[in-house]
Amino acid sequence: MRCVRVDVPGEPLKLHYNEPIPEAPDAGAVVKVSYCGVCHTDVHFWEGGYTLSKGQTMRYLDRPGFKYPCVPGHEVCGVVFSLGKNATNDGDLKLGDKVVAYPWFYCNSCRACLNGYNNSCDEVPPSYLGMTQDGGFADYVVVPYVRYLVTFPMSIPLPIASQLPCSGLTAFNAVDEGVEFVKSTMEIKGNCCVVVFGAGGLGQWGVRFARALYPPETQIICTDVKQESLDAVTSDVKDVVPILTRNQTTEESVQRVKTTSVSGKGVDLVLDFVGLSETFIVAKNSLRMLGRYHVCGLLGGQADFPLPDMVLHRIQMHGIKIGSFVQLKKLVKLLEKTPSLCANLPYSVHPLVDAQSVMHQLIDGKVTGRAVLRCGESDDC
Ligand SMILES: [Zn+2]
Ligand SMILES: [Zn+2]
Repeated sequence: MRCVRVDVPGEPLKLHYNEPIPEAPDAGAVVKVSYCGVCHTDVHFWEGGYTLSKGQTMRYLDRPGFKYPCVPGHEVCGVVFSLGKNATNDGDLKLGDKVVAYPWFYCNSCRACLNGYNNSCDEVPPSYLGMTQDGGFADYVVVPYVRYLVTFPMSIPLPIASQLPCSGLTAFNAVDEGVEFVKSTMEIKGNCCVVVFGAGGLGQWGVRFARALYPPETQIICTDVKQESLDAVTSDVKDVVPILTRNQTTEESVQRVKTTSVSGKGVDLVLDFVGLSETFIVAKNSLRMLGRYHVCGLLGGQADFPLPDMVLHRIQMHGIKIGSFVQLKKLVKLLEKTPSLCANLPYSVHPLVDAQSVMHQLIDGKVTGRAVLRCGESDDC
């Protein structure tokens, strides 16, 4: 089989041919990969880490469990190729089933993990597909626990299904954890304004989920520096107000967001899929009384603001990581019920051998929506 591997962080990715197809572990499976999404985290992993703030860097090699060489890729969809001899599943998973793989296994043994809330696990070391073990930039991938495989309906196209375990799920989590807040804001204030920062891989999902899960009268604004990304949102999702923030100062962006907001007083909920200092400042200065800020971008911003502001404006800050396994199943059900939610999601498909150039396009901001690699050695998967 083929795979693309990071041997040494920062050095060119290597394409390997004629690697042996792995064996299924006892409790797991081998999935023949059909498509694998390319995430910013794959870029971070290839580079060796990411900026925390003020020149500090999080290095993967300093974290227990992370290793190189390693095949990146954690947005996997494919077909079950082989099953371990003790692989048991709640359902009736069988060879040939189309599945997505939940890639964030964590410890797989604490109470949170066993109940499907893996993203609340605080045991170390964690276990992630494409970072602590070989991932989906390959024709086949090992999933160590079969219970993390989720089948999905034919109505979800395979390249879109591949995006569910990370970009789809993280965006879903960001929106899902705001549902009760938006409802109560609507009740208290009579209206609610939600702003999505960043219409990239996550933001495209985020806007669609916000429209689907929040009350229909919720105002949704989407900001981005790329007109094409905003066009992809507004042409597909009803009643979204686009704001192009290219070449604007922070203060100009704040003013535009505030004056666009339904109350004229600011924003109730920010979904920040960028995570830069600039987006934080715009978010924080745009928030209205009792405003809430969800951050899930990892682009390395630094937050510095007066704590009294938080008290006086009753600001709530909420970090969003990937979603839980329970949410992945909920997300698949939502898309099964409402296939139109992802019908026009922008994405591009590239051959596995182009993994390196796709990473560069992502770094250069040239990808609209998600870039997805086609794997699996044939075109019929
Ligand atoms: Zn990811
Ligand atoms: Zn755990």
